[in-house]
Amino acid sequence: MKVLVLGAGVIGVTTAHYLVEDGHEVEVVDRQGAPARETSFANAGSVCPSYATPWAAPGMRRKALAWLLADEAPLRVRWRADAALARWGFAWLRNCSPGRFAVNKSRMQRLSHYSLACLQALRAETGIRYDETTRGVLQLLRTPAEIDAVSSHTRVLAAAGIAHRLVDAAGAIAIEPALAHAAAPFEGGLHLPNDESGDCRLFTERLAERAAARGAAFRFGTWIERIETAAGAVTGVATSTGHLSADRYVVALGVDAARLLAPLGLRLPIQPVRGFSVTLPLARPERAPLASVIDEHTKVAITRMGDRLRAAGAAELGVDTTDAPPDRFRAITRALRELFPQAGDFGRPEQWAGLRPMTPDGPPLLGPTPVDRLLLNVGHGGQGWSMACGSARVLADLVAGRPPGIDLDGLTLARYS
Ligand SMILES: Cc1cc2nc3c(=O)[nH]c(=O)nc-3n(C[C@H](O)[C@H](O)[C@H](O)COP(=O)(O)OP(=O)(O)OC[C@H]3O[C@@H](n4cnc5c(N)ncnc54)[C@H](O)[C@@H]3O)c2cc1C
Repeated sequence: MKVLVLGAGVIGVTTAHYLVEDGHEVEVVDRQGAPARETSFANAGSVCPSYATPWAAPGMRRKALAWLLADEAPLRVRWRADAALARWGFAWLRNCSPGRFAVNKSRMQRLSHYSLACLQALRAETGIRYDETTRGVLQLLRTPAEIDAVSSHTRVLAAAGIAHRLVDAAGAIAIEPALAHAAAPFEGGLHLPNDESGDCRLFTERLAERAAARGAAFRFGTWIERIETAAGAVTGVATSTGHLSADRYVVALGVDAARLLAPLGLRLPIQPVRGFSVTLPLARPERAPLASVIDEHTKVAITRMGDRLRAAGAAELGVDTTDAPPDRFRAITRALRELFPQAGDFGRPEQWAGLRPMTPDGPPLLGPTPVDRLLLNVGHGGQGWSMACGSARVLADLVAGRPPGIDLDGLTLARYS
């Protein structure tokens, strides 16, 4: 079967990988000149299924209100007259109830844990390296209130059978020794020993090289202008380099999927949520984290990637450009400096902004649409790297007509109909 994969971010490339392994003829189309040049380029790097949680959570309405008034809040909203943004906002608020949160979280956890198993199998099979670490992720808790909040969360982790350990400050330093030199006080942390981290761009580039070597065609520098349909089925794709057609079409277009599918009558509830990262060359490796630390206080994730150190975070709703004013990197750099003061070369920062393709409830949209031959792999929000391999495996199973490895209840577009 010929399959056209639209988009060469981590989601499109992992999809192409599994499709090629299944023996399909695969063509990947992207406007950029290489894989992972948009949101998959410089994310925080955590592959953290234990942390897979919807942003629409109990208590978030109150927190969001306080953040709206704060200067350097982790979440900023720029409201504009836009019906899709307003619909998204209302849906997000509805999903903050304890009941909706529990359902959404269990859906994200189902996919994320499956995805980590798929990533580990892929790594063992291909030998792919991407500055990965496999020693867990530490959620750092700076205040007693943060310890209390996480203590109640550990009951959920225990019930789900997820390995975790709540530690005091000395325990946190035993896990990440460089924290002994932190300039900010902290109370402890939650260690998630089975989670991982790694450079999503490096992974995507190397997997694309492998898929190309095994027969996938990559058509870079090609803008997808229109998805064409007749009698309820896709007939082809109009691009800047000509008309393309296939037996199946997988949409992995990140934040742009909603705009391209709207003319087909498909309303995807995806909004861009902008975030930022700062990457530094390591200056003193012994003063840097060994793996990944998520600072609960600032919501900044700090990850070691080979001889680099990356800090990422912040969320801005209502903006759709990656051109970011320099002040947006201030809070992230400050968190990094407070926790790992001498670790990186702060004089040589690489600053990056990306747009998370976010659904209001949290889980992505996988699989079938009402349009024949058209499949979705979009809307992974702030967890796309963690969910990529599992989502792609599901898509390949659906194309092959095999039952997917997980139940897709709550992970498809049908939940919005
Ligand atoms: C600051 C930040 C930190 C993050 N940290 C983490 C983390 O620690 N862990 C985690 O799991 N996730 C994280 N994420 C989320 C993760 O990066 C995303 O979920 C993931 O990269 C989305 O991948 P994608 O392939 O869907 O989108 P993209 O990587 O954006 O790929 C979409 C592709 O479609 C192409 N495209 C779009 N429109 C067109 C068109 N019209 N024609 C041709 N091509 C087109 C684009 O060029 C692009 O290459 C983070 C995100 C941000 C912003």
